[in-house]
Amino acid sequence: MSDKVRECCSGWYEGKCRLSESVQGWGCRLMVCVPDAMPNNEHDKKVLFHHVYSFAQENGILECPHYREAIIDEVIDTPARLLEMVVVKSPLRTDLLSVKNE
Ligand code: SF4
Repeated sequence: MSDKVRECCSGWYEGKCRLSESVQGWGCRLMVCVPDAMPNNEHDKKVLFHHVYSFAQENGILECPHYREAIIDEVIDTPARLLEMVVVKSPLRTDLLSVKNE
């Protein structure tokens, strides 16, 4: 377990495991790998899952007893939760896309 994860884990409290107060993200405040676009198809979803899971693995987050890795699939299958992160990453781009699609 990395020092960062150990430190975060030791100060765990209910509600801590989210990207920010307003965005749940991937269910961990250290999972900062937010997507810059919504997946368009199953292939995109698989690529996104691989990217996010690899990030969690490489950063030792999967070793945290408070991390629930099933949340990655749940978020990928819930467009509203994914969109929250896309907006964080590219607010201007998301505005432009929503105007274009109206
Ligand atoms: S899952 Fe673990 S590392 Fe992530 S925010 Fe929760 S306690 Fe911290």
